[in-house]
Amino acid sequence: MEISFKFQILAIGVLMVILVDYLFSKRLPLISTKTFTLFWAASFFNLLFDILSVYTLNNMDTVPEWVNRLVHQFFIGSLDATVFLLFIYVCFISGAQKRLPKILVFAFSLPFLISVVFAMFAPLYYEINDFGAYSYGPMVNVFYISIAIYIVSIFVILFKKNNAYIGESKISDILPDFKRARVSIVVGLCIWIAVALIQFITRYWLISGMGVSLMAMYVYMRFENPREYSDSETGTYNRRAFHIMVPEMYARKKPFYMVSFTIDNIEQIQKSMGYDMTKSVLKQAAKQIAFAIPGVRLYHSRSHTLTAFIEERQQLDNLASGSELWNFKCTASTEDGIFFPTYHLTIMECPKYAANTEEAYDTLDYCLSQPSLRGEGKIYYITDEIIEQKNYRMAVLGVLTKAVKERAFNVVFQPIYSAAKKRYASAEALVRLQDTTTVGFISPEYFIPLAEEQGLIGQIGNIVFEKVCDFAAREKLWQLGIDYIEVNLSGVQSVDISLVATLTGIMRKYGVHPGFFNLEITETASIDGGDMLAHNMEQLRRMGCHFSMDDFGTGYSNLAQMAKVHFELIKLDKSLIWPCFGEDQDTEEPRIILDSCIDMILRLGVNIVAEGVETAEQAELLISKGVEYLQGYHFCRPVGEAEFVSAVKEMLAKAHA
Ligand code: C2E
Ligand code: CA
Ligand code: CA
Repeated sequence: MEISFKFQILAIGVLMVILVDYLFSKRLPLISTKTFTLFWAASFFNLLFDILSVYTLNNMDTVPEWVNRLVHQFFIGSLDATVFLLFIYVCFISGAQKRLPKILVFAFSLPFLISVVFAMFAPLYYEINDFGAYSYGPMVNVFYISIAIYIVSIFVILFKKNNAYIGESKISDILPDFKRARVSIVVGLCIWIAVALIQFITRYWLISGMGVSLMAMYVYMRFENPREYSDSETGTYNRRAFHIMVPEMYARKKPFYMVSFTIDNIEQIQKSMGYDMTKSVLKQAAKQIAFAIPGVRLYHSRSHTLTAFIEERQQLDNLASGSELWNFKCTASTEDGIFFPTYHLTIMECPKYAANTEEAYDTLDYCLSQPSLRGEGKIYYITDEIIEQKNYRMAVLGVLTKAVKERAFNVVFQPIYSAAKKRYASAEALVRLQDTTTVGFISPEYFIPLAEEQGLIGQIGNIVFEKVCDFAAREKLWQLGIDYIEVNLSGVQSVDISLVATLTGIMRKYGVHPGFFNLEITETASIDGGDMLAHNMEQLRRMGCHFSMDDFGTGYSNLAQMAKVHFELIKLDKSLIWPCFGEDQDTEEPRIILDSCIDMILRLGVNIVAEGVETAEQAELLISKGVEYLQGYHFCRPVGEAEFVSAVKEMLAKAHA
């Protein structure tokens, strides 16, 4: 009879396409990827022996019996191996292997091992009829049973609930990967089973080998394709690859260093030289690092960070010592400008300083968020101290998030003394966290910037404003000689498009006139605020609100801008005042600066609040220079509502007396 290998040849062609594509692209050193390579090899062998077995069966008269048997052993054995490897592959990508005890791993290998034993010793029979040539007997049966067991197991693992896909970490952008893998493997298996059934029914087309390679091709294209992991613009691996690799590094149970290279001034580069240039800088950086550590895999882990996993201390030292010599620049072709990226390295020993995936991400993100851990060409080794700071921040973040949900903030009030009226004429509202047990007292100086960064400041600001309105309305503070309350507006809030509507709503709810508020905007925020700030200020001012420039003297003191944005009050920061009263007074400079600031502001016709007035001496001097309002511990600390009311009443009585 006539035999045709065209399907097998086609199948081999398909596998070759995968191989070529695979060889020429970047791969991750994942154990699942290695298993996939073995799976590929097994299906390749299966096809080869498929062809050979057809040949030997049809030429039994010329081919020695032992050769025929050997070919069949390899043919069915490689088919079993293919399915077995697919099973292991599925175990790896689903994370199931991490929780399996050794005994179970052995149990799962048993069907394969038993069929290998049968392949060696069990009898094998052949039949040749009009349809074609077949082999049958106990050896073949055992193999088919084994294959069936693995196929069923694959389905069980894929559809079992709570898969631990990436071990202990539940990164949401990885989970879709598992779902995609599941779909591609199921579809692949169905293709294969369908093709095998067609062969079984028609008994003529030798296409089951084609089925295996179609399955491999499908899984490859849908899931195992290395291109999914590469970041072509920088020539590194992408963020997704990073998130897959971190748990893999931990699963190896060997210590490693996570080395992150960060460009600090990437925003400036992007602004002045464009997005392409930032990519180019990262590409240059990747080259420099690869030069220091040949063969290193780099991951574009965060927008301006490249990360590598290093297992040897020696490589780390090479990198650290070489990094001083790096010099890459960005050159803009249009303006002939040259820009030098500033960068730093962060080195984290794992699992010593990050026990698992989640901690590793947290620490990496923490380091990237800290300005103190940035700096030209510096190398930062993660230490216990940094981890402690990170943990504190995480704990504060927990307290803060909970407090926002439960509105668990208090507002305290610090009276502001009027030198002209000789009594408290206003007060500054200052936020406090109610929870002082979880991590102790947390200064707003610490949690306000955190809240800004986490997008919580708007809600906190509203809670504070509402409490202030409630207090003012309840106590009718204006009847106690309080002309207005100073409320801090964060820079983030002050450029919020919904600011005016929210504040108006709250003031209406409590029936407090907008003229009773003086909103404090820091000097820095008022300069960075731009059009949105100007728009918000104008609308609020039209309703009657006033504005104070807070922390004058701590920003860039952009005087031109200052004159443009009008403020009713300017609050002199303590850093301008305190140096004038230090013990070791050998220069006149602080006083000259303070005097001229006061002079300038008064000549602009703006009132002054001096902050941080702690002594009578300070108060007297400031008053003599024409400062009208004074705020500080010398007069009163920030206090709760009841205490504030009695302090104000007491002072009022004194003023009248
Ligand atoms: P700030 O606006 O400059 O507030 C003045 C800070 O100086 C307050 O610290 C106050 O307690 C403190 N202070 C007042 N007098 C003295 C003094 O004589 N000596 C010393 N050493 N300190 C004095 P606090 O309450 O810890 O607030 C820190 C910062 O947190 C504030 O600085 C402000 O920027 C921010 N903040 C506080 N409450 C709020 C709020 O409700 N919203 C926003 N956005 N920020 C707030
Ligand atoms: Ca303030
Ligand atoms: Ca201030």
